[in-house]
Amino acid sequence: MERIPSTYPDRLRPNGSARRPNRKSRMTELTQSNSRALVPLNDLSRRYPGEAEMLVASVERVVGSGWYVHGPEHAAFEQEFATFLGVDHCVGVASGTDALELSLRALRRAHGTVVTAANAGGYTSIAARAAGLSVRYADVNPDSLCLSAETVFPCLDQSVAAVVVTHLYGLLPDLKVLHGLCRSRGVALIEDCAQATGAKRHGRRAGAFGDMAAFSFYPTKNLGALGDGGAVVTNDASYDSALRALRHYGWGERYVVKLAGGRNSRLDEIQAAVLRERLKFLDAQNSRRRAVVARYVEAAAGTGARVLPATGTEHVAHLAVIVTDKRDHVRHLFSEARVATEVHYPIPDHRQPAFRSEFTGGTLPETEHAAKRVLTLPCFPNLTDEEIDRVCEVLRGL
Ligand SMILES: *Cc1c(COP(=O)(O)O)cnc(C)c1O
Repeated sequence: MERIPSTYPDRLRPNGSARRPNRKSRMTELTQSNSRALVPLNDLSRRYPGEAEMLVASVERVVGSGWYVHGPEHAAFEQEFATFLGVDHCVGVASGTDALELSLRALRRAHGTVVTAANAGGYTSIAARAAGLSVRYADVNPDSLCLSAETVFPCLDQSVAAVVVTHLYGLLPDLKVLHGLCRSRGVALIEDCAQATGAKRHGRRAGAFGDMAAFSFYPTKNLGALGDGGAVVTNDASYDSALRALRHYGWGERYVVKLAGGRNSRLDEIQAAVLRERLKFLDAQNSRRRAVVARYVEAAAGTGARVLPATGTEHVAHLAVIVTDKRDHVRHLFSEARVATEVHYPIPDHRQPAFRSEFTGGTLPETEHAAKRVLTLPCFPNLTDEEIDRVCEVLRGL
């Protein structure tokens, strides 16, 4: 197989992650071995040529401007991101979780149910609770590991206000049937695009399909800031105006609270300036991510492990995930080869200690099946060919 052209990190630090504590680390044997890994799961200190200078220039531009929140960079980012996605409105907020919560609040339903998947990290569960809505879990399609019209259909009743579909691991699934179902039942469809920024199906970007869509710019996401950030996009002018009020204390005009449930949730000017620059590289970086996954797919062919493919533009390869019946063993083999791995996500939402008492629904067989078998491998644009080779060597032996 052809080598993928490398993206030339100017400061290659294969051991870089060893010096930084892992944000989510529990001191298990595996996270310790991840921190000694030769191939890290991600390394945000690697840059493409000129990126470091661009970041410094962006920050200096903001510092010199005297505008630190909701200034010209933020307005320009909202405009440019909406144009990039092909939607009418973009509303910057402080995080992806806020984007989910505020989009649910923008529905203006005092109570109701949100139907979502239980395999997507719990963000929608947390946001729905914060918005005062209850949650019902639908199972996922075994191929896409995303919701589908078939899995959502049995969960719909009069109480349902919205379906939140998460484009898991970077896959924008075909939403045509699900969207039609939601529309016919008067239920809002909200896309969680936190892992799928830039994905495109039938010429339309993720975020342009639902009534609203939530994005996260957490640093490890495909479009990442230098801190937290998020956005909600929509083609609906009334959702747009509700969102603009809700992110700003619920104000209609200054000091006049028009909408209850408002918050302070702002994307700051420095993050907006950085995101404007990085947006220009997003498609190229997503291609590079797909090429990494293609190498893994090829290496695992004929073995007992299935690498979830990321072939067309509808997949932006946020994570490279394999599905294997022998996860503990496979994880051990990667650890021996000093390749970092992770599980996204080990505990489905309906099994989470804080939520499980509320779960009264039936079983979620595909969700449970996948939670025991998925394993995430290193995947980011600046992985080197040598690092990819090392991962592939382990895959070939499975
Ligand atoms: C990261 C993520 C979020 C939350 O984004 P934050 O910016 O960390 O709040 C929501 N949904 C999904 C699917 C995510 O991956």
